[in-house]
Amino acid sequence: MKEYACRRCKAITTGKVCPVCKSADLSADWYGLVLIVNPEESRIARLLNITQKGKYAMKVT
Ligand SMILES: [Zn+2]
Repeated sequence: MKEYACRRCKAITTGKVCPVCKSADLSADWYGLVLIVNPEESRIARLLNITQKGKYAMKVT
């Protein structure tokens, strides 16, 4: 199944709407899958401004 990344918050979804910020601004052009399990203690989460756990893209174009 095709996965899309949200352009606003970088969350990855297979649906048509971002599960995190509810944006429909999704891109099929992304790379660098990041799995955030514990956003409070994750340096990457802080770096990417992620506050909810889930799958994210490092880069969305
Ligand atoms: Zn989003």
